[in-house]
Amino acid sequence: MTIALQGELTIVRGKIAAIEPRAGGVTIRSGTRRVEFPGGWAFPGLVDAHAHVVGLGLAFREGYLRDAPSKHECIERLIAHGPNRGEWIVARGWNQELWSPPLFPTRYDLDRVFPTTPVALTRVDGHALWVNSSALERAGITAATPDPAGGAIVRDEHGMPTGILLDAAMELIQQYIPERTLEDIEHAIIEATAAASSVGLTEIHDMDVLPEHLPIFTQLAEQGKLHCRILSWVRGQRFEWHSAGVLPTTGEFHRVAGIKLFADGALGSRGAALLEPYTDDPSTHGILLLTVEEIAERIKRALDDGFSSIAVHAIGDRAVRTVLDAFEQIQQRYVALDNVRLRIEHSQVVHPDDLPRYVQTGAIASVQPIHCTSDAAMAERRLGTRTATAYRWRSFLQHGVLLCAGSDFPVESHNPLSGIDAFCRRIPPGREHPWYPEERLSATEAIEAYTINAHRAADMSYRRGWLAVGMDADITIVDRNIEVCPAEEILQARTLATVVGGTLYEHA
Ligand SMILES: [Zn+2]
Repeated sequence: MTIALQGELTIVRGKIAAIEPRAGGVTIRSGTRRVEFPGGWAFPGLVDAHAHVVGLGLAFREGYLRDAPSKHECIERLIAHGPNRGEWIVARGWNQELWSPPLFPTRYDLDRVFPTTPVALTRVDGHALWVNSSALERAGITAATPDPAGGAIVRDEHGMPTGILLDAAMELIQQYIPERTLEDIEHAIIEATAAASSVGLTEIHDMDVLPEHLPIFTQLAEQGKLHCRILSWVRGQRFEWHSAGVLPTTGEFHRVAGIKLFADGALGSRGAALLEPYTDDPSTHGILLLTVEEIAERIKRALDDGFSSIAVHAIGDRAVRTVLDAFEQIQQRYVALDNVRLRIEHSQVVHPDDLPRYVQTGAIASVQPIHCTSDAAMAERRLGTRTATAYRWRSFLQHGVLLCAGSDFPVESHNPLSGIDAFCRRIPPGREHPWYPEERLSATEAIEAYTINAHRAADMSYRRGWLAVGMDADITIVDRNIEVCPAEEILQARTLATVVGGTLYEHA
């Protein structure tokens, strides 16, 4: 059975009321409105099953200096964005190594354009701050200010601060920058969901959400300002959801769906908990953040609060095993867990003995295919021969594990096509051949991980996940059939429109 279709879809009150297959393109009919997309293909709305909405919005609002090829380009971007924290302009991501000559900038570069607006710009590595004279003035930093312990105020030959502050000296300025307001967070969410919508997403499983951000999502949903449905998994490592009194909700465009825990860190920082030591640093196995009992205790509390979805971050094989042990313990103590969705976020390194345990415990593998290709070279160094047990998509499906997919944006691109491409081709950047090609998926399987399986992982598959009469009108319209086109062309596809609960957003 194929997923994609061409023809006329009639929408009534947010649901698909009729489908008339017809070659040549897609037509969306809603009331008296009829919009045609010649050559387009309709898919069930694509879901990002693991992402960070506020993080993406803040990356747009503050992280826009990344990859700026010159000092001049940085300043152009600052002018375009303007103040974003009270009267301050705060941004990050500049890197003078990309400029010619590769020299530190100065406050005078900024003063010419921003004589009175304070500007504070964090370097890409977070270890240097580039500020203008107005910012220095507000912080009272002069030639007479001593360097703080653990930091330095860079000075010219006359001892005057140049506008570059290193490490602990950054704090001299940062304490004067206004905190982000709830309004800043609101704008970040609006920008992030609009961007996600433009690349074809109709729904996002938002992970590790702060309890204080939930009312903003709810309000934006009520105002019709979210271009994607948002399901929140609330921070739970220290019972944050419980302390804040957060309970599950059932809104149409925003829903508090579950809680999020962390069992370990990441491979890059050697924080992922492994059963055997790291290949490139035998002194460490990584760090397990919660024990079996601690995970089980949090899950029990969440179930008592009425939650039916628990997402636990586990990257290393020891963390995955610990989470499976906790799921098992919970199931031995509770009887009715049929409607509970237990998800292992990332599921990157899985010991072969533990693959069947996913099915036994009902654990869902929530993976980010683009992490595999982006991190392949690093994973080879960290894991050695254990890379054969990493990113095992085909193995999950063969064992009957429910596999859903996301991007982890803003860590990776928010474009779901990048993930579908990685699923199908599995070729790391700069390489020519697939990495462990036996673990690749077909385009149909890849799209299922972004549609029906993602909905199953959130217990919404009775409403969404395929194009059929009576289902929610959540549709992604693409300019080609990514299900059958050569895998090399998937990344060239463009989203023409999305439909969310019957509302059409045109993107082309
Ligand atoms: Zn994440």
